[in-house]
Amino acid sequence: MALATTSLKRRKSDLDDTTFQLNVLNAATLSMVEFPKFSELIERHGKPPIKPKSLEILQLNIGKMCNQACKHCHVDAGPDRKEMMDRETMMHCLNVIEKTQVQVVDITGGAPEMHPDFRWFANEIHARNTKMLVRCNLTIIVANKKYNDLPQFYADRGIHVVSSLPFYDSKNVDRQRGDGVFEESIAALKMLNAVGYGMSGTGLILDLVYNPVGALLPGPQAALEAEFKRALSKKFEIEFNALHCITNMPISRFLDFLIESGNYERYMQKLIDAFNPAAVSGVMCTNTLSVSYDGKLYDCDFNQMLELPVASKLKHISEFDESVLHNRTVVVNQHCYGCTAGAGSSCGGQIA
Ligand code: SF4
Ligand code: SF4
Repeated sequence: MALATTSLKRRKSDLDDTTFQLNVLNAATLSMVEFPKFSELIERHGKPPIKPKSLEILQLNIGKMCNQACKHCHVDAGPDRKEMMDRETMMHCLNVIEKTQVQVVDITGGAPEMHPDFRWFANEIHARNTKMLVRCNLTIIVANKKYNDLPQFYADRGIHVVSSLPFYDSKNVDRQRGDGVFEESIAALKMLNAVGYGMSGTGLILDLVYNPVGALLPGPQAALEAEFKRALSKKFEIEFNALHCITNMPISRFLDFLIESGNYERYMQKLIDAFNPAAVSGVMCTNTLSVSYDGKLYDCDFNQMLELPVASKLKHISEFDESVLHNRTVVVNQHCYGCTAGAGSSCGGQIA
């Protein structure tokens, strides 16, 4: 497998600086076109500022290291990224899981399995009887012998596996994720199927994530899911449960791609033209809290990557207090158009 690109950090790109990214999004640099402010547009549609509902999902980004370096990655992950959550922060997360009604712990990265404490942490969450979801990039399963038993590890703990597969052919997948990624992803999906993932009656859930290759919005989720199911079953005898369609967010490496390819303004305009007020109430910041590798709290993974912390006096998982955090207002910015375009987009796919 070859890397599709290198991290913005490694390239010493201006976009490695989140202030620079926010300046681009707010037309304060690069002579960008100024687009209507997301906060003002939702207000014009009679939507109040976004407030959290009850906390259902605790999303933990346990590190930025990844065996891949996809072109669209909003985390700017890659093999060169060494940031990892330490045990002390993991213990704070476990304390929160114990003392709240959080329904799902969503573990993400990077490739979270590369964290040396990943299995310890997953076991601790499992011991607390909380549903767990792992965002697995598939290729990690076949990357090295030491990861080959991950499907069984997941299955033994009933972990919900969610994996990116932007298309069902190598041309599109490899273009975005690196040469050889499609072939390795297919091998990993077969290993997951072999232990029961995606197979009816096992209760082992394997969902795939589709995101467009290029500066496009995703098509209708139900039709794409049927198409993926038909193609993967016919060509490779692979089964999965559901397809989540996700809009590429105009941040980090996808923002870099948009600028480099001359598509930035067209893409932002597409998101704004497709603004769907009905999607606002279902955006994932309404039921999710995102925690970074260093324990800081964010309204979502995208705000985390833009270093836009929660608007609360509590900023760190060690200070967690659900009632205080519940009273905050979600911090929005221009990237939020990515969540409200068309049928809307969240970690779980379409919203509206
Ligand atoms: S697999 Fe995921 S985390 Fe890793 S580089 Fe690709 S998009 Fe980023
Ligand atoms: S980007 Fe984050 S804060 Fe903005 S609408 Fe989406 S989930 Fe909410």
